[in-house]
Amino acid sequence: MKCPYCGSPENKVVDKRGTSDEIATRRRRECLACEKRFTTYERIESVELLVIKKDGSRQQFDRNKIKHGIVRACEKRPISADQINRVVDEIESELRTKETTEISSAEIGEIVMNKLRDMDKIAYIRFASVYREFTDLKSFEKELKNLLSKRGGEHHG
Ligand SMILES: [Zn+2]
Repeated sequence: MKCPYCGSPENKVVDKRGTSDEIATRRRRECLACEKRFTTYERIESVELLVIKKDGSRQQFDRNKIKHGIVRACEKRPISADQINRVVDEIESELRTKETTEISSAEIGEIVMNKLRDMDKIAYIRFASVYREFTDLKSFEKELKNLLSKRGGEHHG
Protein backbone atom coordinates (compact mmCIF):
# COMPACT_ATOMS: atom_id res chain seq x y z
CA MET A 1 0.00 0.00 0.00
CA LYS A 2 1.94 3.00 -1.28
CA CYS A 3 1.34 6.58 -0.24
CA PRO A 4 -0.58 8.37 -3.03
CA TYR A 5 1.37 11.57 -2.34
CA CYS A 6 5.02 10.51 -2.16
CA GLY A 7 4.94 6.82 -3.08
CA SER A 8 6.49 5.62 0.15
CA PRO A 9 5.42 2.10 1.13
CA GLU A 10 5.86 2.87 4.82
CA ASN A 11 2.68 3.81 6.64
CA LYS A 12 0.72 3.09 9.75
CA VAL A 13 -2.96 2.44 10.31
CA VAL A 14 -4.50 5.25 12.34
CA ASP A 15 -8.13 4.20 12.18
CA LYS A 16 -9.90 1.02 11.15
CA ARG A 17 -13.58 0.57 10.59
CA GLY A 18 -15.61 -2.20 9.01
CA THR A 19 -18.31 -1.10 6.60
CA SER A 20 -21.85 -2.07 7.53
CA ASP A 21 -21.77 -5.28 5.52
CA GLU A 22 -18.26 -6.11 6.72
CA ILE A 23 -17.27 -7.12 3.23
CA ALA A 24 -14.88 -4.18 3.02
CA THR A 25 -12.63 -2.72 5.69
CA ARG A 26 -11.97 0.98 5.59
CA ARG A 27 -8.56 2.00 6.87
CA ARG A 28 -7.22 5.42 7.55
CA ARG A 29 -3.46 5.39 7.04
CA GLU A 30 -0.71 7.84 7.72
CA CYS A 31 2.43 7.93 5.59
CA LEU A 32 5.56 7.63 7.71
CA ALA A 33 7.59 9.59 5.17
CA CYS A 34 5.44 12.66 4.42
CA GLU A 35 2.90 12.25 7.24
CA LYS A 36 -0.06 12.79 4.94
CA ARG A 37 -3.17 10.73 5.56
CA PHE A 38 -5.13 8.64 3.07
CA THR A 39 -7.93 6.07 3.14
CA THR A 40 -7.86 2.56 1.79
CA TYR A 41 -10.67 0.09 1.31
CA GLU A 42 -9.71 -3.52 1.56
CA ARG A 43 -12.23 -5.77 0.02
CA ILE A 44 -12.40 -9.46 0.77
CA GLU A 45 -12.05 -11.15 -2.59
CA SER A 46 -15.33 -12.62 -3.62
CA VAL A 47 -14.24 -16.20 -4.07
CA GLU A 48 -16.30 -18.93 -5.59
CA LEU A 49 -18.03 -20.74 -2.76
CA LEU A 50 -18.99 -24.36 -3.19
CA VAL A 51 -21.60 -26.18 -1.20
CA ILE A 52 -21.10 -29.87 -0.53
CA LYS A 53 -24.44 -31.57 -0.57
CA LYS A 54 -25.46 -34.64 1.40
CA ASP A 55 -24.73 -36.95 -1.52
CA GLY A 56 -21.22 -35.49 -1.86
CA SER A 57 -21.89 -33.46 -4.97
CA ARG A 58 -20.79 -29.84 -5.20
CA GLN A 59 -22.94 -26.95 -6.12
CA GLN A 60 -22.22 -23.28 -6.52
CA PHE A 61 -23.27 -21.28 -3.49
CA ASP A 62 -26.55 -19.52 -4.12
CA ARG A 63 -27.71 -16.98 -1.55
CA ASN A 64 -31.20 -17.01 -3.03
CA LYS A 65 -31.63 -20.58 -1.87
CA ILE A 66 -30.84 -19.60 1.70
CA LYS A 67 -33.11 -16.61 1.41
CA HIS A 68 -35.92 -18.72 0.04
CA GLY A 69 -35.71 -21.10 3.00
CA ILE A 70 -35.72 -18.22 5.46
CA VAL A 71 -38.61 -16.43 3.75
CA ARG A 72 -40.64 -19.62 3.92
CA ALA A 73 -39.86 -20.11 7.61
CA CYS A 74 -40.79 -16.49 8.35
CA GLU A 75 -44.14 -16.62 6.59
CA LYS A 76 -46.77 -14.65 8.54
CA ARG A 77 -44.21 -13.80 11.20
CA PRO A 78 -43.51 -10.17 12.14
CA ILE A 79 -40.25 -10.19 10.20
CA SER A 80 -39.61 -7.55 7.55
CA ALA A 81 -37.99 -8.19 4.18
CA ASP A 82 -35.25 -5.90 5.43
CA GLN A 83 -34.54 -8.12 8.40
CA ILE A 84 -34.42 -11.18 6.17
CA ASN A 85 -31.99 -9.49 3.80
CA ARG A 86 -29.79 -8.48 6.67
CA VAL A 87 -29.71 -12.01 8.04
CA VAL A 88 -28.88 -13.43 4.61
CA ASP A 89 -26.08 -10.85 4.30
CA GLU A 90 -24.72 -11.85 7.68
CA ILE A 91 -24.81 -15.52 6.77
CA GLU A 92 -23.11 -14.89 3.44
CA SER A 93 -20.29 -12.82 4.89
CA GLU A 94 -19.85 -15.40 7.65
CA LEU A 95 -19.44 -18.09 4.99
CA ARG A 96 -17.13 -15.96 2.88
CA THR A 97 -14.75 -15.21 5.73
CA LYS A 98 -14.16 -18.89 6.43
CA GLU A 99 -10.80 -20.23 5.41
CA THR A 100 -12.24 -22.87 3.18
CA THR A 101 -14.18 -22.31 -0.03
CA GLU A 102 -16.14 -25.53 0.38
CA ILE A 103 -18.87 -25.67 2.96
CA SER A 104 -21.23 -28.53 3.67
CA SER A 105 -24.95 -27.86 3.39
CA ALA A 106 -25.22 -29.13 6.99
CA GLU A 107 -22.91 -26.38 8.19
CA ILE A 108 -24.90 -23.74 6.35
CA GLY A 109 -28.09 -25.12 7.88
CA GLU A 110 -26.63 -24.78 11.37
CA ILE A 111 -25.64 -21.17 10.73
CA VAL A 112 -29.10 -20.35 9.41
CA MET A 113 -30.70 -21.99 12.45
CA ASN A 114 -28.52 -20.01 14.83
CA LYS A 115 -29.57 -16.77 13.18
CA LEU A 116 -33.24 -17.68 13.15
CA ARG A 117 -33.16 -18.75 16.78
CA ASP A 118 -32.07 -15.24 17.73
CA MET A 119 -34.59 -13.61 15.45
CA ASP A 120 -37.85 -15.54 15.75
CA LYS A 121 -38.53 -18.77 17.64
CA ILE A 122 -41.40 -19.89 15.43
CA ALA A 123 -39.40 -19.31 12.25
CA TYR A 124 -36.57 -21.24 13.84
CA ILE A 125 -38.76 -24.21 14.69
CA ARG A 126 -40.23 -24.21 11.20
CA PHE A 127 -36.83 -24.12 9.56
CA ALA A 128 -35.38 -26.71 11.92
CA SER A 129 -38.25 -29.12 11.38
CA VAL A 130 -37.75 -28.99 7.63
CA TYR A 131 -33.99 -28.93 7.80
CA ARG A 132 -33.43 -31.57 10.44
CA GLU A 133 -36.11 -33.73 8.89
CA PHE A 134 -37.56 -34.72 12.23
CA THR A 135 -38.62 -38.24 11.50
CA ASP A 136 -40.71 -38.66 14.59
CA LEU A 137 -42.65 -36.46 16.94
CA LYS A 138 -40.30 -37.28 19.82
CA SER A 139 -37.25 -35.58 18.36
CA PHE A 140 -39.36 -32.59 17.42
CA GLU A 141 -40.74 -32.30 20.93
CA LYS A 142 -37.27 -32.60 22.36
CA GLU A 143 -36.06 -29.71 20.23
CA LEU A 144 -39.10 -27.69 21.22
CA LYS A 145 -38.45 -28.34 24.89
CA ASN A 146 -34.82 -27.32 24.54
CA LEU A 147 -35.95 -24.14 22.93
CA LEU A 148 -38.64 -23.34 25.47
CA SER A 149 -36.30 -23.91 28.39
CA LYS A 150 -33.99 -21.25 26.93
CA ARG A 151 -36.72 -18.68 26.54
CA GLY A 152 -36.14 -16.80 29.75
CA GLY A 153 -38.28 -13.74 30.28
CA GLU A 154 -40.28 -13.55 27.08
CA HIS A 155 -44.00 -12.90 27.35
CA HIS A 156 -45.37 -14.22 24.12
CA GLY A 157 -45.06 -17.41 22.21
ZN1 LIG B 1 3.83 9.97 1.73
